[in-house]
Amino acid sequence: MSQLGDLYQELILDHSKRPRNFGPLESANRRAEGFNRLCGDRLTLYLQLDGDRVAKARFEGAGCAISTASASLLTEAVQGKTRAEAEALFQRFHALVTGQPGADASGLGKLAAFAGVSEYPARVKCASLAWHTLHSALAGDAGGAAVTAPVSTE
Ligand code: ZN
Repeated sequence: MSQLGDLYQELILDHSKRPRNFGPLESANRRAEGFNRLCGDRLTLYLQLDGDRVAKARFEGAGCAISTASASLLTEAVQGKTRAEAEALFQRFHALVTGQPGADASGLGKLAAFAGVSEYPARVKCASLAWHTLHSALAGDAGGAAVTAPVSTE
């Protein structure tokens, strides 16, 4: 575990132990499920969209520290955002954790804590699972069917 030490920063540890916005959301009108075969992370993401804006976001499921912390921070980050803003955040976060050239953490706030994940390819899927699930939830129809988020191969 020691080589993963850099990943387990205080923020990630905190959110993995005490995930925010954890549990079902009665008022959800978007829902998607994600599964990371590689690690066994599994989560359900609930969104309440008011018009074009994410009014509420909650999640439940079971996974490793990285996936849980990522989902927890995601629910905080997307609340109040428009769909376009949430999608833009997904793209920026994905670029950061996959180590794409030119990617930087500016504008990502707390999500920047996951920058170190790009050095651990197996962990990228853990960090990005909730975001792929968000992408599915935003793309789905109202009351939408559960969608298994694609597992990133990048
Ligand atoms: Zn994981």
